[in-house]
Amino acid sequence: MAGTLYIVPTPIGNLGDISPRAVEILRSVGIIACEDTRHTQRLLNHFAIKAELISYHEHNEQQRSAELISKLVSGISVALVSDAGTPAISDPGVPLVRAAHEAGIQVISVPGPSALAAAVAASGLGTDAIFFGGFLPSRPGQRRKRLRECAEIPATLVFYESPHRIAASLADCLAVLGDRQTAISRELSKLHEETLTGKISELIKKFDAKAKGEFVLVIDRVSSAAENAETDAPDLKERVKALEAEGLSPREALKKAAKEAGINRSEAYRLLHIDGD
Ligand code: SAM
Repeated sequence: MAGTLYIVPTPIGNLGDISPRAVEILRSVGIIACEDTRHTQRLLNHFAIKAELISYHEHNEQQRSAELISKLVSGISVALVSDAGTPAISDPGVPLVRAAHEAGIQVISVPGPSALAAAVAASGLGTDAIFFGGFLPSRPGQRRKRLRECAEIPATLVFYESPHRIAASLADCLAVLGDRQTAISRELSKLHEETLTGKISELIKKFDAKAKGEFVLVIDRVSSAAENAETDAPDLKERVKALEAEGLSPREALKKAAKEAGINRSEAYRLLHIDGD
């Protein structure tokens, strides 16, 4: 009988966050595939777990996936871990999980620590629709392009960020997405954990190129401006009428009124339409 592939989250800062089930699985499997064997060995030592470790990282995951699948097919169960958090979430793992599905191997995902879920929950921003963008590109041009692609997504936007890029990324977020409500979670589950909230223009003042820690950016969705403005739809209608009376074409009036309200033209059009016009 084939083995099982377990995806096992590990703590993102606080050892107490590993679940008893995760420990039990790490104890029971034949092989633990991990990013950095020395790092994972320290975790295993803490829980007195003895297991064979095989390195599985971004530079060898294709080749190692094939090897691990043969082990699984031969009946050995494998636990996949990363250095911290949930494997395959901005971490190695996707090729192995995909190969396991293709080979008919049972894949069991153990719920547990992830900076993504922890930061979203702490943000106070809408959670009905979330877009996770992983890491933004490091090159400014590509980063702004990616942000432009994300700008109209009607969901709370989430990005992982490293300390040396947080200031530059926030500046690009402000330039491309506008001054949205944002939460920045830093050092989740660690001693200096904090979640700062505010407009990007306020938060940007708190981080410079020497910022320290690990960060998650959680940024409000584009439509919130329109949602906030919804109560102001009659005002918007009045303003469009007034601008038309001043001689602007309906199209120009809508564009100008939208700009004044801090929303784009299609949102303004939608608001006026919802309002029965
Ligand atoms: N797979 C991991 C997970 O589930 O959270 C994420 C791995 S990714 C390589 C590492 C990034 O996750 C960091 O650069 C940071 O953006 C975020 N991160 C990880 N631990 C964090 C923490 N304790 N506090 C805030 N962000 C964290």
